[in-house]
Amino acid sequence: MFVLRFWWPLAILSCSSALIEIPADYLTAIRQDRADEDAAGDYNYDHQGADWTGTCDTGQRQSPIDLIFSDSTLSSIPRIRFNNYNQSLRTPLVLTNNGHTANMVLPLTRGGQRPYINGGLLPGDFEVQSVHFHWGSRSSKGSEHAINFVRYDVEMHIVHKNRRYESMGEATQQPDGLAVLGVMFRAVPRSRPNSQLYGLNKIFNQVPRIVEYNSNVTISGQLNVGQLLGDVVTGEFYTYNGSLTTPDCAESVTWTVFSDILDFPERQIAKLWTLKDSRSRPLINNYRDIQDTNGRPVYYRALQKL
Ligand SMILES: [Zn+2]
Repeated sequence: MFVLRFWWPLAILSCSSALIEIPADYLTAIRQDRADEDAAGDYNYDHQGADWTGTCDTGQRQSPIDLIFSDSTLSSIPRIRFNNYNQSLRTPLVLTNNGHTANMVLPLTRGGQRPYINGGLLPGDFEVQSVHFHWGSRSSKGSEHAINFVRYDVEMHIVHKNRRYESMGEATQQPDGLAVLGVMFRAVPRSRPNSQLYGLNKIFNQVPRIVEYNSNVTISGQLNVGQLLGDVVTGEFYTYNGSLTTPDCAESVTWTVFSDILDFPERQIAKLWTLKDSRSRPLINNYRDIQDTNGRPVYYRALQKL
């Protein structure tokens, strides 16, 4: 694996005769994602978001929230349909430490298609954009949502954009602009060999190479978006209308959080605890505190009729 230490060399490298060739459209998407992230301004997790301003402070449909089975509306929601999730992505993939999380912008499939989801309570087709993680530390859990008052070790977010909007910037300003899938990870001491974790292991194996802020690493070989979900049961989930959990906390997200928990090796999760932020401090506990539901309905889809 080739380690790209800083941001600009990534661009320079790809423009010159490169050791690793990153397609121009993927590079553009990575740089746009970073520009969107930088536009949110400086923020940190010193107070779990309690000191964030603007919509983060005044919004009434904020995330994360506690997802409580007994407070949820059981309803016959269709399952989430995953389209092109089993198609191999163009590689290399680029994993970045952006100072707030380990983030990977997702490219098109090798066939040139954009994986997308629909179904659930989603108002349309939502195209996959990126994946990132929230985590705790050796002594604390790091999920953002809680399920029945329980928080988990890691929460993975797969971010999607409504196909009807051109850019993430535009979608973020629309109430139906984004769809995020949330998957909870439970740290397990020693996992039995699980081929379903192949994709996640492939990503986590590279995390030690992005310890420094602004560092990147490329991941090659075969990977599809479906592999990010491991063996999680996708037929059962909570869904509600909320916000981004990072500034500017735009209230543009249809959340789908799976109630099945993914068992993931603690030795892999521990790699996240070694990352550093832009101040060279440990990038740990990068989760936002639970927000008020303010009477919002939360829906639960059960696998079987109850
Ligand atoms: Zn997130």
